[in-house]
Amino acid sequence: MSNICEILSVGTELLLGDIVNTDTAFIAGRLAALGFPSYRQTVVGDNDCRLADAIREGFSRADILILTGGLGPTCDDITKKAVADYFGVPLVMDEDAKADIENYFREMGRVMTENNLLQALVPEGSHVFPNRWGSAPGIAITKGDKTAVLLPGPPSECEPMFANEVEPWLAERSGCTLFSLNLHLYDIGESRAEAILKPIMEKAVNPSVAPYACEHEVRIRITARGKTEEECRLMCREMAETVLATEVGPYCYTESVTVWESKNAIVLKLIESLRNKKYTIGIAESCTGGMFSTRMADIPGVSDILLGGVVAYDNRIKEQVLGVPGEILEKYGAVSEECAAAMAEGVRKVTGADIAVSITGIAGPDGGTEEKPVGMVCFAVSDENGTATETARFNRKADRSKVRRLSVARAMMMLIRRLNTK
Ligand code: ATP
Repeated sequence: MSNICEILSVGTELLLGDIVNTDTAFIAGRLAALGFPSYRQTVVGDNDCRLADAIREGFSRADILILTGGLGPTCDDITKKAVADYFGVPLVMDEDAKADIENYFREMGRVMTENNLLQALVPEGSHVFPNRWGSAPGIAITKGDKTAVLLPGPPSECEPMFANEVEPWLAERSGCTLFSLNLHLYDIGESRAEAILKPIMEKAVNPSVAPYACEHEVRIRITARGKTEEECRLMCREMAETVLATEVGPYCYTESVTVWESKNAIVLKLIESLRNKKYTIGIAESCTGGMFSTRMADIPGVSDILLGGVVAYDNRIKEQVLGVPGEILEKYGAVSEECAAAMAEGVRKVTGADIAVSITGIAGPDGGTEEKPVGMVCFAVSDENGTATETARFNRKADRSKVRRLSVARAMMMLIRRLNTK
């Protein structure tokens, strides 16, 4: 079987341009990395007839049709019925999915209405993918050489379900195992990384090599198909060494395997570096308002190294809690390397941590000047060997929350480099 895939997104809000079709972008990227051919993508509104047509047309070309959206309990959620009709089977209650939905509402402390249980209806003969990220389960149904895979629309559910549930299932169906290894690069742009890796990428079929630009980094995803996971791991390792031997090598700060590791790569690397040094950390934040501390506290078991943080937004807090001298604030201003240094030294004293970090900057949209524009952020790292400072000038077009997220990543990277310097 050729395993040709098509993606069919269901939702009138997509057609109206109210939301961007990120589910399709995500799935398309994964299919490409996994080596499943995919030649068409379709969007159709919440309309029974047009959806039925789109399913028929999709299956006239493809073996596997991946549908997103329209699995919820409301009356415009029509995907399951349309797929069941195509295969000529009824919708039946899946008892495991029903129990999962009841548990989900119990755990969330939310009242479950009867129509929520409609989400446990699946076309007869379906394989059900449990939804650990929401309530509507995913579904796969096969008849003859045609398979439909149905996933919920919200990206926070669609993406992890595809990566964690559907990918291994697709791999098994095609009689192989898939394994991916991500290399995380900092301080290099996607186009430069791609230009350096082009000769390797052009030749690499299995494992495949693909760069992905993320907000603060570039990821190189290496994916191998083979008989066993062990075999795939070895293939990925060998390819990783080839990639790391190029000019991108020095930019690689860590590696990851799972989706969760990949999303949290920078904070996980920071935590690992602190643990290796047996260092505790204290944090002083101005413009990031606690975001750095939150990113660390998101990781379970971090209490052995995270002592605490101070959100010193107002100058009075910088002076009174962190002991930043008034003269520094007057002479250099709150957004200065001098102030960042004093904040880091102050929070190190207050918390008694081995190492401390500080962030102070102009997140915008207002407050910038010619000399200190929006996006200018100062950082300091302080430990027993002294205090180092840096200034970043993020793109003025970055919005407030992006400047803050980029600042957290930059501060983490500054710490990682300091902790890993011999
Ligand atoms: P729910 O159980 O939440 O109703 P669903 O599977 O029925 O999920 P939809 O009702 O179609 O999904 O969409 C729910 C929300 O998910 C949409 O309002 C939109 O915010 C998001 N969404 C749906 N499809 C996509 C898509 N293709 N790309 C990005 N976001 C999407």
